[in-house]
Amino acid sequence: MMGLADDGGLLLPRTIPRVGNDTINAWKDLTYQELAFEVMSRFIDDIPVSDLRDLINRSYASFQAKEITPLVHHGNLHILELFHGPTLAFKDIALQFLGNLFEYLLEKTDGVMNILGATSGDTGSAAIYGVRGKKRINIFILHPHKRVSPIQEKQMTTVTDDNVFNIAIRGTFDDGQAIVKSIFNDIEFKTAQNLGAINSINWARVLAQVVYFIYSGLHIMRDEKDRAFDFAIPTGNFGDIFAGYIAKQIMPEGMIRSLVLATNSNDILARFVNNGDYSLGEVVGTSSPSMDIQAASNFERYLFYLLDKEPERTKEAMTEFSRTGRLDLKGYQDQIRRDFVAKSVTEEEVMQTISAFYAAHDHILDPHTAVGVCAAQAHLKKNVPMICLATAHPAKFGEAVEKAIGIPPGTPEALAGIMDKPSRCELMDADSKQIKAYIKRHAIHKLP
Ligand SMILES: *Cc1c(COP(=O)(O)O)cnc(C)c1O
Repeated sequence: MMGLADDGGLLLPRTIPRVGNDTINAWKDLTYQELAFEVMSRFIDDIPVSDLRDLINRSYASFQAKEITPLVHHGNLHILELFHGPTLAFKDIALQFLGNLFEYLLEKTDGVMNILGATSGDTGSAAIYGVRGKKRINIFILHPHKRVSPIQEKQMTTVTDDNVFNIAIRGTFDDGQAIVKSIFNDIEFKTAQNLGAINSINWARVLAQVVYFIYSGLHIMRDEKDRAFDFAIPTGNFGDIFAGYIAKQIMPEGMIRSLVLATNSNDILARFVNNGDYSLGEVVGTSSPSMDIQAASNFERYLFYLLDKEPERTKEAMTEFSRTGRLDLKGYQDQIRRDFVAKSVTEEEVMQTISAFYAAHDHILDPHTAVGVCAAQAHLKKNVPMICLATAHPAKFGEAVEKAIGIPPGTPEALAGIMDKPSRCELMDADSKQIKAYIKRHAIHKLP
């Protein structure tokens, strides 16, 4: 629950257990929930077995697909649909679990928590849906007024449970993040208000995401009889692909072959993989806004493994990066290239991929997924199944999709009528003093 470690670093498990072929064979026919239990319980030793099973079952009951993360086959290319949760983005998979996990842990200690975060779109609604209606948790989410898409705004503000507080600020996403950061830095306020975060650096989020890499791999083994496969991952904060990297260590050696790291025009991570050059560029806006990121918050975790699991060297490197905005890792290229291949995808390629995939397969990709599919096609090997992570439902990014294929994607049930639903949101200046006062007024301090 602590997010950052006390020394400012990120948390990781001491060891990553590798399973053998016998275990893999025994896992083949498990449901998603059963497999989630098997994988997570190897990292969790302080939650009783039946409680963990119950947490997992409740977390995935909110998903519309029986398989939770269904796989759609198109020849050698397989689309792993991660968007069947309540907000239609893959973040639900981790945040539905995290909301229940936090509630469970707070019950044990008779505690309460006020979650504070800033969002540019997707994370905010997934976090809100993760904790809506929970008795011991209030959530405060800042979004930039009129700078998120109308659907994204409605997905957040139409959740009118008593414990949900949407704040639209007059400013940018960066203003929102800066305010959140400054509030967390006020230790006295943070302690008095029991502030917590559920951002992408939370280890439990990564852990929940490891599951679908293994689940989809098992699916390929069962249906296609292949025992090795590649993954393509549309990447922003390096959380999803890091989960893939962990899954690769858990499964028998050689089973997960390549992890294809796909970025949009914000290409810092592709430059890192291809040239060992991890240096900040300007953030540019694209049709895949959830990946418009330069400094990837989970990158530090991979760096730790790259630097021989030496925390001091990791800390030095991260300190140098925050001082200079760059790291030269050319000396590690052999290892980096064993772990990943990468491609940065242009806006033109995104549009081409959406339209060509629709023409060939009658399958509509959202722009984030299209970034992954385009990179996958560049690295596709004959006879090796490629699993492409589909991170959002196309209806969430209808405008970009319509631009590519000439028709809007259909509206799923979760979004039907959303523009007309009653909503609640506070409009405020980008002023941390005012926002602190608002949080103080609405924070939960003990159970009523
Ligand atoms: C968050 C997000 C991503 C990027 O995932 P990371 O874990 O940050 O790399 C990709 N696609 C969508 C739709 C997202 O919401």
